[in-house]
Formats: sequence, structure tokens, C-alpha cells
Amino acid sequence: MIAYIGLGSNLGDSKNYLQTALSSLHAQKNVTLRAYSRFYGSKPHGPQNQPDYSNAVAKIDCSLSPLALLDTLQAIEQDNDRIRSKQRWSARTLDLDLLLYGMETLQTERLTIPHPYIQERPFVLYPLYDITPNLHFPNGDKLADYITGNMPDDLWILE
Ligand code: ATP
Ligand code: MG
Ligand code: MG
Repeated sequence: MIAYIGLGSNLGDSKNYLQTALSSLHAQKNVTLRAYSRFYGSKPHGPQNQPDYSNAVAKIDCSLSPLALLDTLQAIEQDNDRIRSKQRWSARTLDLDLLLYGMETLQTERLTIPHPYIQERPFVLYPLYDITPNLHFPNGDKLADYITGNMPDDLWILE
């Protein structure tokens, strides 16, 4: 199954956390890394008193169920110094979100697919567009319809 993973970091050496996460995904037995986006910088959403984010999106081919994939993503987060705070959307060394899992939709206590905020997050939409410009969401929307020539002010491309 083709799945897309959103990567984010705004604590420590963020670029290195993103690179380590890509390597860790690649190293999983049941995962093949197919592509990944450029690295982006973005302003924090939610609480503003935290450092800017680095973001990317990866495309993987995986033979894991959605929940097993979420377990894998959370294990990689833990291995990379993720400390879960009670405060929502607080600073973190590494966040790995399951954005899309084929065309499947799922809504359980632990897992919602597609990830609920994809279509309102430029730091997800633009990296997704780098990898798969002709992508359609399970609801039929075209990714390209969310992309404009000018990126928003709170998103930029990192070296
Ligand atoms: P957001 O999901 O808005 O980006 P976040 O990534 O900061 O916020 P986390 O603290 O990483 O949120 O995750 C909180 C919980 O979200 C996880 O424990 C997980 O069970 C749940 N969750 C639901 N759907 C997803 C998904 N598609 N990908 C990752 N986690 C999910
Ligand atoms: Mg997240
Ligand atoms: Mg998350």
C-alpha cells in the first residue's frame, strides 16, 4: 500500500531529526521509501511561543496495517527523543503523522485517515505536491487545487 508520512521537528537539530526519520523508515522491514520532498521551514501552528518548524513528506510502500504503521511511526518518534506534552501542538524533536494510506478512510480513537488537517496545512500540501503533483484525496479533491504559485508567507524552502 502506498502511504504518505508527514515529518515535523522544531527542537534540537531538526534537519538531522528529519533525515534520521527518513533513514529509519527506509530501514523498516515492511517499508520501502519511495520518495521524499524538499525540506521546508514553517511558522508554528497552535501555540506561537515555540521555534519554527522543519517539515517534509515521505512517500512509502508498506505492507503494514494502518495501526501497525502508526505503532512504527510512534516508535521512531520515541527513539528520537519525542517527549509527549499535555499541551497540544507543543514543541517536539520529531512528529511523524500518517497522512494518507492508499485511498482508505478510517476513524478510530487512535487513528484518523486521512490525517484530519492535511487540507488546511500548507506545510503538508506543498511537500506532498513536490512528490505527487497529480494526487487526489479520498474525497475526490485534487491536491493541485490547493496549491498556488506563491507559497504562503509562513512557509519557505530550506537549503
Ligand atoms: P496533529 O495530529 O494535529 O498534527 P500532533 O501530531 O502534535 O497533532 P501527536 O501528539 O503526534 O499529535 O499525536 C496525538 C495522537 O494522534 C496520537 O497518539 C495518535 O493516536 C493520534 N492520531 C490520530 N490520527 C493520526 C494520524 N493520522 N497520524 C498520526 N497520529 C494520529
Ligand atoms: Mg502532527
Ligand atoms: Mg503526530
